[in-house]
Amino acid sequence: MKKSKRRNTERAYEDSGFIRDIISSREGARVLSCIQCGTCSASCPVFEVMDYPPRKIFAMIREGMKDKVLLSVTPWICASCYRCTVNCPAQIKITEVMYELKRICLKEQVISERTDANRFYSIFLNQIIKYGRSHELGLMIKFMMLHHPVNLLQQVPRGVRMMLSGSLSLFPHRIKNAKTLQKITDHALKLQKV
Ligand code: SF4
Ligand code: SF4
Repeated sequence: MKKSKRRNTERAYEDSGFIRDIISSREGARVLSCIQCGTCSASCPVFEVMDYPPRKIFAMIREGMKDKVLLSVTPWICASCYRCTVNCPAQIKITEVMYELKRICLKEQVISERTDANRFYSIFLNQIIKYGRSHELGLMIKFMMLHHPVNLLQQVPRGVRMMLSGSLSLFPHRIKNAKTLQKITDHALKLQKV
């Protein structure tokens, strides 16, 4: 009995810490104002492939369901289109909260095995740092080779068609002053680690 009481207390402490983290961030300051109207879910173009629609994510945050929220694929599927944010009657920065959740997932290394979006982002980020812009062909080849080598072969015909139609460029293009951008991103990455 005593043990389970202690476990419950620990859990309550952990969960309230999660809510505190979210509402103390710039992005999540208004999370507790959510009125559960569902406008965000109705506005979201990708909610059908999320495990929890945005409305439910906010309900779970309010309930302090840290594990469930962090292990959800919803933040990783969010396409950052901002439709929910502009429509939210409670003026919650929903898209930014999705970013904050991804940051917490990365910091705490709690990421659902049902998504590899984080690995995709990592390759994308390295490419931006190197060239100043993305090179879709290189991005897809590297991502598929590292994480889905079997599927890579299946994608070859489509890739060739896209190259022939001019939708994909064979070589990356580096922006002017890519070195300046590298300095900025290096600095931002250092700040992130502080
Ligand atoms: S639109 Fe805003 S207030 Fe409505 S459920 Fe979504 S987050 Fe909550
Ligand atoms: S920003 Fe993300 S959660 Fe909001 S509507 Fe767009 S995809 Fe959905």
